[in-house]
Amino acid sequence: MSRKGPPQHQARKRFGQNFLHDAGVIDRIVGSIAPRPDDNLVEIGPGMGALSEPLLTLNPRLQMIELDRDLIPGLRAQFFNYPELTIHEGDALRFDYRSIAADGPLRIVGNLPYNISTPLIFHLLDFRDVIKDMHFMLQKEVVERMAAAPGDSNWGRLAIMTQYYCQVIPLFTVGSGAFRPAPKVESAVVRLVPHAELPCPARDPDLLAQVVRTAFSARRKTLRKGLFSLMQDEDWQQVGLDPGLRPQNLSLADFVTLANHLYLSNQE
Ligand code: SAM
Repeated sequence: MSRKGPPQHQARKRFGQNFLHDAGVIDRIVGSIAPRPDDNLVEIGPGMGALSEPLLTLNPRLQMIELDRDLIPGLRAQFFNYPELTIHEGDALRFDYRSIAADGPLRIVGNLPYNISTPLIFHLLDFRDVIKDMHFMLQKEVVERMAAAPGDSNWGRLAIMTQYYCQVIPLFTVGSGAFRPAPKVESAVVRLVPHAELPCPARDPDLLAQVVRTAFSARRKTLRKGLFSLMQDEDWQQVGLDPGLRPQNLSLADFVTLANHLYLSNQE
């Protein structure tokens, strides 16, 4: 099933434009979001409105953030009969999400431009205290990396830092035929729900990020070698973790143990 959408826009690669046209996929995404009229709903990258249209029928107070100025007049024309709609012309990577959260926690959705999806999610995590949940279409491989578990070959920085702040729930995969132009890779929809309370709080999240980054930059080395610049033999004895393991074998809680140990050592 294909949905028509306003024509006459040449998709721009630099804005990661792959427009959804499959009505079945659109319905499935909107069904997963299940917007309510009183939600503080935000769509990143509305494009030509494929998702916005069904979202607006359920929540006429939708707010959009779109970077491509050429798309704005089309969106305004297409949705002129939704007076409560707000269109923010700008970059979702620099947007201050706190500035639009006065009416309640944000529900953020989007078929994201794949070239910015990871930095965008890290930017959004800075606003997790004002976010209720997020539903994103991403590259399937990115969703798999985000939802990976310790021991998986794709367990790494993205999984650890996303799962530190959020519950990661992969929902379903979407074939490339659902988009125009069709991307080269498969996609998947994921739900991210920020933890109300962090399950494994680190004393210094920046230090946790540094430990994780350093460990996985030497993914195949043992922790003893990979974290040599941070951890000496006596540190390993104190934390009670085996330095002969590889970073892939440590859980999020183990990385937090390492980071908290270093934090306390730095205080001495
Ligand atoms: N939601 C539409 C759909 O599903 O058909 C369009 C999705 S398309 C993959 C990504 C959209 O994000 C495009 O409209 C693009 O112009 C917009 N975009 C790209 N970079 C952006 C940014 N930094 N901030 C806001 N929007 C951006």
